[in-house]
Amino acid sequence: MTLPVYDLMQRAVDIVGTSPHPTNKIAATLGLGDYHISYTNEWPGPIATHIGTQTKIGNASGTVHAETACILEAPHTDGASLFVTDVPCPNCIKNMAEAGIKALYIDHKGFDKDFALRRGHLFESMAMRICEKAGISVYKIFRKDKKTETILAIPEAYKPPLEKPPHVEALIQPPSKSLFENCIAKESKKFGGVFALAFAHDTQGTYFMISAEPHPAIGYTTDTIEKPEDKYNFLLEPVNRVLMTAARQGLFIDKNYIYCSRVPTARELVNIVASGITRLHIGDRNQARDNDAHTALDQLEKAGILNVE
Ligand SMILES: [Zn+2]
Repeated sequence: MTLPVYDLMQRAVDIVGTSPHPTNKIAATLGLGDYHISYTNEWPGPIATHIGTQTKIGNASGTVHAETACILEAPHTDGASLFVTDVPCPNCIKNMAEAGIKALYIDHKGFDKDFALRRGHLFESMAMRICEKAGISVYKIFRKDKKTETILAIPEAYKPPLEKPPHVEALIQPPSKSLFENCIAKESKKFGGVFALAFAHDTQGTYFMISAEPHPAIGYTTDTIEKPEDKYNFLLEPVNRVLMTAARQGLFIDKNYIYCSRVPTARELVNIVASGITRLHIGDRNQARDNDAHTALDQLEKAGILNVE
């Protein structure tokens, strides 16, 4: 039986106090039909154990945000709803868009909290605009009064324009090193620039290749992308697109077969670790979006968290 939205939000509220973060305790629930899963923001185990919670990974906090943790762990996210105790950051909103989240519920108390007050402008200037373009309805939820207030209504018929969607293709052979190398060579020719690729399987054991290049959040096109602001921007990096596409389609990434043509960004690397991936193939180790990516990779490699090939 599908739980009422108030109960799904309550699940997040129930665990928010268990967040290991000393100051920003945030929790989220992802609900799809009868299924629901809840997470707080937290440090992935290997980062907490081998690097610690006081050290940044490159320029990224070592934590995975609660919303993104739910998406990475859920067996399937297309059409799901997310319930969050706080106002989400633009990075999580971009992930939600790519993962096919259709409704976002924010606890009314979240609007008075630290992040909302400090970064409220980003919620208006970026997060809400991404939701509008991607077709994510946004609601403020009052659990005690069993009341929701619509912040952003998306017309039922709305379909976001899809420019350069991630590519998903069934594999004709079982995954192997040589097939992986062939796929990388083929996609490299096609994209001609930065891209990521992974093998993933469905619950039946059928294997797929997922590949993607960096692109503005779903709903934006190269022509309509807006100016980056603050430390956030409207672009979604390729590894994040691959991880979110796997979640959206209910595919499980094969931990031996994930590739990025350059060093992934610090945030992508944290998400890779959070996905339980310990082995990463990189095309050109000298290329990265920024220096923080190199720093983050060095940290994870030295700590024995990630093996690079
Ligand atoms: Zn976030």
